Amino acid sequence: MEYVSIVGAGTMGNGIAHVFAQNGFKVSLIDVHPPQLDKAMATIAKNLERQVGKGMITEEKKIKTLQNIVTHTTIENGVQQAALVVEAATENIDIKLQLFQQLDAFAPANAILASNTSSISITKIASVTKRPNRVIGMHFMNPVPVMKLVEIINGYDTHPDVSNTIIALSIQLGKIPCVVNDYPGFIANRILMPMINEAIYSLYEGVANVEAIDTIMKLGMAHPMGPLQLADFIGLDVCLSILEVLHKGLGNPKYAPCPLLINMVTAGKLGVKSGEGFYTYTAGNKELIVSNRFRH
Ligand code: NAD
Repeated sequence: MEYVSIVGAGTMGNGIAHVFAQNGFKVSLIDVHPPQLDKAMATIAKNLERQVGKGMITEEKKIKTLQNIVTHTTIENGVQQAALVVEAATENIDIKLQLFQQLDAFAPANAILASNTSSISITKIASVTKRPNRVIGMHFMNPVPVMKLVEIINGYDTHPDVSNTIIALSIQLGKIPCVVNDYPGFIANRILMPMINEAIYSLYEGVANVEAIDTIMKLGMAHPMGPLQLADFIGLDVCLSILEVLHKGLGNPKYAPCPLLINMVTAGKLGVKSGEGFYTYTAGNKELIVSNRFRH
């Protein structure tokens, strides 16, 4: 496999392009918004520079990696040579279904079509293509160049050869693959999101304050970050939408999102990206300040 196309040049797309290009693949990075492509290339260059600074790669490797990436603004032009497409566009089912119809129409007939979705059914995505046995989930973690895990999701019709190809490819990228079946939330979010929801319930019911909840999980369970801080980083809107997928898809009330989470998202308190969640984040300042609202 030589040519890989990445669709969506946002947070995840730039990291996925970085990792493939660094491992010698010819990468076509596609986004409908041209400024996103410029921003992604600048981010990749900055992150490679950091790797050079830490002695992890040479200056020559950095230049080669950047030379391995070309950008496109249309699917039609961007996937012509692809042996694999990794879709990392906005987490919206209508966008993904439309994209996979396009990918199926324009990518070579034997190309594997993978999605980096956090929560949308791979079987549903595959169902809009004429090659459901060549559609699979390839769920990278953020930040992609740093995080080792790739959660590989077999859809109902994914062929074992396709799954084995993606396992081998993940190892070639220096990652550790884990294979799961296609049910709501897969494994990562099925386990992570109820923990975050329970942390929010604990705050909502006044069992403990933000600092106590996060400190207990950090020091007691050796988590690098407390669940409320992690929720702020993921985005409270993203957490809410994944919990809704779990609740609806598995039909169990234990997944019902906490009313406090719903209220915060309705009020536009989305965490780091909006400047306020369980903590407040001042522009240019990474220091976490517990929101006054939660000081009790
Ligand atoms: P993002 O909003 O940062 O980037 C999405 C990009 O997709 C944008 O640049 C947008 O312009 C582009 N896009 C939208 N429609 C498109 C189309 N039709 N064709 C081409 N490009 C299109 O989103 P993100 O955080 O990078 O998430 C991307 C995917 O990765 C989602 O499915 C998300 O669930 C998943 N994911 C995200 C994280 C995370 O921590 N951010 C972690 C794991 C998986």
